[in-house]
Amino acid sequence: MYYHSTRSPMPRVDSAQAVLDGLAPDGGLYMPESLPAFDWQTCLQGTSLQMSTAILSALLPDIPRMEELVRRAYTGKFETEDLTPTVKVGNFTLLELFRGPTSAFKDVALSMLPQLLTAAKAQKGMEQDILILTATSGDTGKAALEGFHDVPGVRICVFYPHGGVSQVQRAQMVTQEGCNVAVCAVEGNFDDAQTGVKNIFAACRDRELPFRLSSANSINIGRLAPQIMYYFRAYRDLMDRGEIRLGDPVNFSVPTGNFGDILAGYLAKKLGLPVGKLICASNANNVLTDFISTGTYDRRRPLLKTTSPSMDILVSSNLERLLYLLSGDTALVAQLMQQLKDEGAYTVPADLLAKIQAEFCASYCDDARAEEIMGRVFRDYGYLCDPHTAAGWAAAEDYVTQTGDHTPMVVLSTASPYKFPAAVLTAIGGDTDGDEFCQMERLSRLSGVPIPGNLSGLQGKPEKHTGVIPKEKMLDFVLSL
Ligand SMILES: *Cc1c(COP(=O)(O)O)cnc(C)c1O
Repeated sequence: MYYHSTRSPMPRVDSAQAVLDGLAPDGGLYMPESLPAFDWQTCLQGTSLQMSTAILSALLPDIPRMEELVRRAYTGKFETEDLTPTVKVGNFTLLELFRGPTSAFKDVALSMLPQLLTAAKAQKGMEQDILILTATSGDTGKAALEGFHDVPGVRICVFYPHGGVSQVQRAQMVTQEGCNVAVCAVEGNFDDAQTGVKNIFAACRDRELPFRLSSANSINIGRLAPQIMYYFRAYRDLMDRGEIRLGDPVNFSVPTGNFGDILAGYLAKKLGLPVGKLICASNANNVLTDFISTGTYDRRRPLLKTTSPSMDILVSSNLERLLYLLSGDTALVAQLMQQLKDEGAYTVPADLLAKIQAEFCASYCDDARAEEIMGRVFRDYGYLCDPHTAAGWAAAEDYVTQTGDHTPMVVLSTASPYKFPAAVLTAIGGDTDGDEFCQMERLSRLSGVPIPGNLSGLQGKPEKHTGVIPKEKMLDFVLSL
């Protein structure tokens, strides 16, 4: 099985190389030439770890000993053995993706990626260390640090905007332990940090360095593929509870930013899982809602700051993979991406839009509606959800109202409510005095939901990474590692 860029059928590389490269040489994203035949019914019978092993072995066949890698990635690191439990709340089933070591849904993928990367490196006989370089607006940085710390042959460096992440997110990062980690604040905003990282990649392209640069974001197929598992997990839970029988469709509503999570759901469907509609949920940054309803993707608009910051995004990179999967036309994808770059917008042909709309629906909600939903879900069902999950809930409600389709609905829950205590407190009628740690305590008192151990244990942990640098010094910082 070979991979190639979404923008060109050549060159072809094997799956280990695709994981090592991350981005394809022409700037496109790696996709398999064709998806493998997959025994999805047998996959459904396994534990979460067995599901992961089956899916990852099928998609990344050149990476050996997958079972061992999966075991190493997940054993003992998540709150529950099934990794991503489901809870029935009202008419919907919530798929809790935030039970990992940093209380972020990105833990599912970023626990696995280091194992895949080191195995791919060994398979290719690569001796150089890999340096993972990441700019973060909060959650990704910590989840990546947790996944990569003390992994042999890999180092990791995370930049975050000084004053631009929450108090808890900062505490999570600056207290990170490990012999191969660096964390540094950059004077500027997230875009400055991200541009700085891109510039470092460019500046290092032709340099002799003691390491090879790589990134941990969801353009890497090794980060996307581990996310397919939890769609199977949720489906199986619904079977076990007698809500569906094998073969019945299930709809999924997915709080969406970079389009990685929801694309994993589409890949689950392509592997055979009976997925009905995939509902793309956005906040007030509703580029994707517009795109899925009109076929025009237009990023020429201001980026709004919302209470669901992980969805504050104007360019959803993994959408490119969907365009390729549904059109099979690399030349078309290359042309659309060029247009996006040059003009800031593109429109897909009508037949492609029809294919997109056959699989996906979209809806968005603003902060006020998310707040109303968090409050209502807590009052009616005693369940505390975060603002991202509330956006997923809103889109699920919109879908049911608009279509009357009562197929069982799974709403993906992408963050612990304790990651966004002020917004959640406001929604359930608590006051937001004090710092974030006080807010977490108050939220726990009011709701009776315990604070995840990894967050409550942060206060009093020694700060190890307190540096702040101007953005011009980012390259020097990396070269000094
Ligand atoms: C990253 C993230 C998302 C968006 O996921 P994508 O795969 O980028 O679409 C949604 N919610 C939370 C809390 C996240 O951290």
